[in-house]
Amino acid sequence: MNSSSRKAPTHSSVEAQRRLAYFDERRDEIVSTIRELVEIESPSDNKAAVDRIAEAVAHKFSGLGGEVRFHRAQDFGSHLQVNFGGKSAKPVLLLGHYDTVYPLGTLATMPSRVVNNKLTGPGVLDMKSGIALMLHALAGLQEWDGKEQDGGLPRPVTVLLVSDEEVGSNSSRAITESLAKRASAVLVLEPSYGPHGAVKTARKGVGEYLLRVTGKASHAGLDFQKGVNAILELARQIEKISTFTDLKKGLTVNVGTVNGGSRTNVVPAEAAAQIDVRIARMKDKAGIDKKMRGLRPFNRKCKIEITGGINRPPMERTSGVAALYAQAAAIARELGWKLEEAAVGGGSDGNFTAGLGIPTLDGLGGVGDGAHAAHEHILISELPRRAVLIAGLIEAV
Ligand SMILES: [Zn+2]
Repeated sequence: MNSSSRKAPTHSSVEAQRRLAYFDERRDEIVSTIRELVEIESPSDNKAAVDRIAEAVAHKFSGLGGEVRFHRAQDFGSHLQVNFGGKSAKPVLLLGHYDTVYPLGTLATMPSRVVNNKLTGPGVLDMKSGIALMLHALAGLQEWDGKEQDGGLPRPVTVLLVSDEEVGSNSSRAITESLAKRASAVLVLEPSYGPHGAVKTARKGVGEYLLRVTGKASHAGLDFQKGVNAILELARQIEKISTFTDLKKGLTVNVGTVNGGSRTNVVPAEAAAQIDVRIARMKDKAGIDKKMRGLRPFNRKCKIEITGGINRPPMERTSGVAALYAQAAAIARELGWKLEEAAVGGGSDGNFTAGLGIPTLDGLGGVGDGAHAAHEHILISELPRRAVLIAGLIEAV
């Protein structure tokens, strides 16, 4: 027994246990909501499919009394905004996405199944369980609170689910940012980290660059000296770019793809590389961008061209983020649960909201493993306390 469990139960821990029992009783309902969403496949690049899940999810939120608004996008599925409550206070923004990385038909080889404590299926972790948790946490609050104003909730809530997160969020970013600016805090229901379900209090910023080298083609046998080898130049550039990595700063530069040349007997005139850049700190953005743009040809007969940039700012662990985490940890503690935090290399839409200085807590969604992979799953037993945590945060922040 630890020291906290020896103490007499406080009012708040009694309430926390009551809430946990409430969601325990509804565990199967939560699982069936998740399965329903997983079984509507929604690859980012299929507008019709994503529009279909947008409708289904909108229907569920309007069933809770939310005011539904679609933001139509030309090349992507609709983004869904749902408002609960009036202007009595600043809303909290619940943020997520319903697009997945899986093409239509994936369910045939990767069905949604319950195997012991695991629930499987495409997008079950990233992040259809997060959407279901939003729905059930809100339903719980409405049942406990029953307030007339603010949509039956203890405070106004805005939900934003976007359709293009897995492909860079270009069409939704402005909506995410404008709703975040009006919110007191942003809760991101992306998957949690690791087997203990840590929340994410820092994410790296992400950038992508394309480096193109132009040389001069010639016959490798007849006119070797007239050629200018673009691949050789690219190789030298790659060596140079690789020195930009600074692990102590959390700054990494990865040349992820290369291509170039046409045949072995031709001195290649073209070569190119795609480069992934990650930064942990906003203050490193300008420096790395300058270095990338400052690349000059080693061989003056070559031309190099660099395009791209940092497109997601880092989510840094600011005092606002730390305070949100402290609130989450306090709610978890009432359940005797030590909620961990993690800093991760991947980005989410939480990077945008945190980049604006709005307190953001990410990784509040499902607990599991295998996001974007064939073994993607969540742990069913973690769902009830996750729902308690989300409901508690909606009230508190
Ligand atoms: Zn995601």
